[in-house]
Amino acid sequence: MPQMTDERVLSRLREEDLSLLHEVSMKTAGVSRLEMCIQCGTCGGSCPSAMDMEHTPRMLFAMLRAGMRDEALRSNTPWICVSCYHCVVRCPQEVHIADVMYTLKSMAIKAKLYRDDIAPHFSQTFVDMVETYGRSFEFGLASRHYLRHFPLRMPGMMPMGFGMITKGRMGITPKKIRRMDQLKAILNRASQLELTL
Ligand code: SF4
Ligand code: SF4
Repeated sequence: MPQMTDERVLSRLREEDLSLLHEVSMKTAGVSRLEMCIQCGTCGGSCPSAMDMEHTPRMLFAMLRAGMRDEALRSNTPWICVSCYHCVVRCPQEVHIADVMYTLKSMAIKAKLYRDDIAPHFSQTFVDMVETYGRSFEFGLASRHYLRHFPLRMPGMMPMGFGMITKGRMGITPKKIRRMDQLKAILNRASQLELTL
């Protein structure tokens, strides 16, 4: 769950220092449009992984604007982002949110501020599910993540999970896509290309 309060970031924003924001923007491939963020929160509201993020994308970008380098680079948010681009297509300012997440991961690795277990395990579980079913399986993803890393938080998550299931927002069994063979061919080709880079 996102933890940092808006108040703490807002108090830092009063001493605004845009150098970190510009640095992240410049390091992002293409045009990030990070400076155009208007803090509307559409990204977090669209994000299927938001409940596992320490900070919503909106909050993370406010932290960059406030110059909170270490806190931003320690955040699990970029690692929990599964690059679904849902937020990107909905952002009214066309901020390239998923690409910024890649930049933050790269900066965190270089600064040795990433945590080397929880987030990579989450990413690997997601990849395993896509390779098996051709799509994400949120119920399985959340269950495995919480059972392994935060078992004591499981009871608190149950009401929300139950609500999502009863409203048809989340299934309790995985559904495989048709033509898995085509997806496997694409993934194999991507692996081959990766090896040549
Ligand atoms: S949706 Fe776009 S403009 Fe709104 S908070 Fe997210 S990044 Fe900023
Ligand atoms: S691209 Fe990342 S931040 Fe955006 S909606 Fe998908 S998981 Fe969330």
